[in-house]
Amino acid sequence: MAIRRSTSDLTFRNWVLEQPEGETLLRCYQCGRCTSACPVAAIDNSFNPRLFLQKILLADESLAEEQLVWTCLTCEQCEVRCPEHVKIPHLLILAKVRGLVGGNIPQAALDRARGILTGGRIIMVNESMLKTRNKMGLPDLGQPPVDQIASVLKEIGLAKKLEKLESVYGGEGNE
Ligand code: SF4
Ligand code: SF4
Repeated sequence: MAIRRSTSDLTFRNWVLEQPEGETLLRCYQCGRCTSACPVAAIDNSFNPRLFLQKILLADESLAEEQLVWTCLTCEQCEVRCPEHVKIPHLLILAKVRGLVGGNIPQAALDRARGILTGGRIIMVNESMLKTRNKMGLPDLGQPPVDQIASVLKEIGLAKKLEKLESVYGGEGNE
């Protein structure tokens, strides 16, 4: 795979290193434990946190344009297993921020944000999920306090920001 670097310097990597906790990147020695601990990598072998960090180390800015990076669950399983305590989920968030600045935000991310605002959840719960939960003996999910969630998101300005993003990148924008 071609590596796309900034032409004259390591702009992308240097930008990451300048962010809070971005310098933890330099502790990565590419052992791969993060990938073996990652639940997303377990079901999709194109998702590979070790390779994502390798791209940042090499200042390969194409990572910021990859929609794949948005499927990170921020579950921190990788970070817990990392022998160097690299802030992997945080570094992936920085890649997303970098992409966002460059105008790259997947529709699915906008839909998830809209889902929180209108339904109180990132994903809609369907019958099959409820049946599975029931079989596993998990407690009733109940209904999320949608009004309270929406009012908090409005209060802190996130609802407006989402509308703005949707008007630029697409999405329902129907609040
Ligand atoms: S586990 Fe830590 S050191 Fe190993 S590849 Fe992942 S981030 Fe790098
Ligand atoms: S935080 Fe992201 S990269 Fe790390 S284990 Fe979870 S899904 Fe994988």
